[in-house]
Amino acid sequence: MRQSVLFTKTRKEAPSDEVAKNAQLLIRAGFIHKEMAGVYSFLPLGLRTLEKIKQVIREEMDAVGGQEIIMSALQDKEIWSRTDRWDDAKVDNWFKTTLKSGGETGLGITHEEPLARIMADHISSYRDLPVYAYQFQNKFRNEMRAKSGIMRGKEFLMKDGYTFSRDEEEHQKEYERVRDAYPRIFKRVGIDDITYRTFADGGIFSDFSEEFQTISDAGEDTIYVHEKKKIAINKEVYSDENLAKLGLKRDELLERKAIETGNVFHLGTRFSEALGLTYKDEEGNKKPVVMGSYGLGPTRLMGTLVEVHSYEKGLVWPKEVAPFTLHLIVLGEDAKARTEADDLYERLTEKGVEVLYDDRDASAGEKFAASDLIGIPYRAVISAKTLTAGKVELTKRSSGESALAEEEQLYSL
Ligand code: ATP
Ligand code: MG
Repeated sequence: MRQSVLFTKTRKEAPSDEVAKNAQLLIRAGFIHKEMAGVYSFLPLGLRTLEKIKQVIREEMDAVGGQEIIMSALQDKEIWSRTDRWDDAKVDNWFKTTLKSGGETGLGITHEEPLARIMADHISSYRDLPVYAYQFQNKFRNEMRAKSGIMRGKEFLMKDGYTFSRDEEEHQKEYERVRDAYPRIFKRVGIDDITYRTFADGGIFSDFSEEFQTISDAGEDTIYVHEKKKIAINKEVYSDENLAKLGLKRDELLERKAIETGNVFHLGTRFSEALGLTYKDEEGNKKPVVMGSYGLGPTRLMGTLVEVHSYEKGLVWPKEVAPFTLHLIVLGEDAKARTEADDLYERLTEKGVEVLYDDRDASAGEKFAASDLIGIPYRAVISAKTLTAGKVELTKRSSGESALAEEEQLYSL
């Protein structure tokens, strides 16, 4: 993409009411726009990154047999009443409204109820199980805390997945299969070394749930980390009895702030019983389906990547989720350098390299500042000087290493 046609501009200052580093940098780099507290729009560069994050998650979910769907945002009060999750006294973060035709609706906070009902139409026999379905969808939650930028939105994207199994034993296998796909996602986006599987409160569903917590001072959670065993415990369930269950000792654990990037729950038969989701086993007995749920927030993950990878001048994207792989920058007025850069851009694009080409009439200082903010993994500079050498100056973002490079090297970045 030519930067001269990109409608977003980088800027020196973030809005003064924005306190989160992730949102400040993403706004300054033109990735997102702040609509109001906890509500953000995604602009071309931000959307490219978000789509890449989604694609990593999608590939890993598909690899464990996930079937992608999209459910509606508008919710049917009736099914939520059946599980006792409609009442504001029970669930306090709904956005609700009245329907002109009468009655009420709400914007989905999560999707256990509607999917259990959908599955009730499709599952009837043990042969139909197990099933794993997931979606990417905006969730709406009237969150109180809005200090964490895109990591805590009132409207935010969630990957939510749900497994449906015949019994506890089958559920446990499904649960572990989906859960164990999560570290592969964190590895691909470059935070596996600082992301811990963490024991946490199971809420109304079960004694325990498991979370994936990424170590960062920007986190809202406190966890106790066992670095060698690569597991952790959330402070909310931290007690001797716990520790004993997990075989951990207090003096081996380090207290850390962390961001909950994902979590996985055992749901049992709570939803299937309430919504009539049953199947017939081999003997023809009617049984409730055992469910599990698997959440991961692509927008929170994007904010997390900014919190842990960025530095004072700007963003630093891991290649897998960067909006572009290469930032090609032409410097100076030199007509020959311009033509060379135009041609190189065309050739690279043809070869399938994702290039953002800064072809604007701007000073070197402005171009570098914008490039530092946007944080594309590789930068190639063409100027009258590099032309003399017949090469480009290639800089790797993560290490800052710079060297003159042949064009062919750019094909395989
Ligand atoms: P938290 O305790 O941080 O509020 P949660 O327990 O409400 O999270 P879930 O309801 O299980 O989280 O949501 C699944 C995933 O969705 C979370 O692991 C997180 O990645 C993401 N998520 C949850 N709430 C938000 C939010 N307000 N903004 C952005 N992402 C969110
Ligand atoms: Mg929450």
